[in-house]
Amino acid sequence: MKRILVTGGAGFIGSHLCERLLNMGHEVICLDNYFTGSKMNIIHLLDNPYFEIIRHDVTMPFFAEVDEIYNLACPASPIHYQYNSIKTIKTSVMGAINSLGLAKRTKSKILQASTSEIYGDPEVHPQHESYWGNVNTLGPRACYDEGKRCAETLFMSYHYQNNVRIKIARIFNTYGPKMNSNDGRVVSNFIVQALKGEDITIFGDGSQTRSFQYIDDLIGGLIKLMDTPDSFTGPVNLGNPVEITVSTLADMIIKMTGSKSKIIYMPLPQDDPRQRKPDISLAKKELNWLPVVDAETGLAKTVEYFRSVLKG
Ligand code: NAD
Ligand code: UDP
Repeated sequence: MKRILVTGGAGFIGSHLCERLLNMGHEVICLDNYFTGSKMNIIHLLDNPYFEIIRHDVTMPFFAEVDEIYNLACPASPIHYQYNSIKTIKTSVMGAINSLGLAKRTKSKILQASTSEIYGDPEVHPQHESYWGNVNTLGPRACYDEGKRCAETLFMSYHYQNNVRIKIARIFNTYGPKMNSNDGRVVSNFIVQALKGEDITIFGDGSQTRSFQYIDDLIGGLIKLMDTPDSFTGPVNLGNPVEITVSTLADMIIKMTGSKSKIIYMPLPQDDPRQRKPDISLAKKELNWLPVVDAETGLAKTVEYFRSVLKG
């Protein structure tokens, strides 16, 4: 049994990770300031004596004796990370420094939840880990993108300078139950709009692409990455390479929900990436990992989740 710290543990990905780690027999400390996360995401875990929650902000140092750290704390949806851009940068950068300091002192392994946003609006397709990216340092997404890029640099610096055992996961668009219904991400937006019979809001002409992975696949990949030998640090892409347009996603969700919603078109946000698709050959080779949940299956489970949330 290991003692594992999950920062951002009350969020969408963090709550699934806490649950999986507890089911594997580990002791889990969930640290969160509840900015975008919620106690409702982890309420079912509270009876487990090996689960502990701590209200704390990662921009402040944290002390505990742990074996592993998953550093997930950071708002992930554009509307939330742009709400207070300075705080987003502090969360990524100071959160990384504080978590790495803890890893250094406790000699624990530490995994960073990095992102496909590292690649910005990519000019190379699909995106391989060797691509340096195309990020606007001044645009509205920069607080998130550059914060995450700096966090990757910090992880590598602590590794080279202080021998900290690090892992960097570049996570591509992930969806599933426990997404925040009002966080503005496309899958949750479209499903909630379809179930409520509201207009489906496509930004731009809907021809931009994304590659959506189901949450269970991601959690498996994160745990496999943490278990790789110390010599493997990543960065490694974790995503489902099946690429679809935003319009196709809207059509799938309308069909699946039997909704009467109509599609409306709204302005494309500034710097919205035109295309995104992971090259996952490195994850296949080093982690022996592949996403296995197809879009129909994953979306059906997510629709069921939002149906129950909307029923109250
Ligand atoms: P989320 O917003 O649901 O979860 C983030 C969690 O971090 C929330 O519980 C929030 O309250 C907490 N948090 C935010 N700022 C904090 C702070 N200063 N101190 C302590 N806790 C703080 O988002 P998510 O989708 O679960 O994303 C989790 C991580 O994965 C993030 O780091 C995100 O950048 C990364 N990621 C997610 C995706 C995706 O598609 N969901 C893609 C790429 C990367
Ligand atoms: N999007 C959309 N309608 C919405 C929300 C998002 O068309 O109601 C688009 C958005 O412009 C982007 C894609 O869907 O092109 C994915 O957006 P999301 O915020 O989920 O993730 P990200 O842009 O960070 O990949």
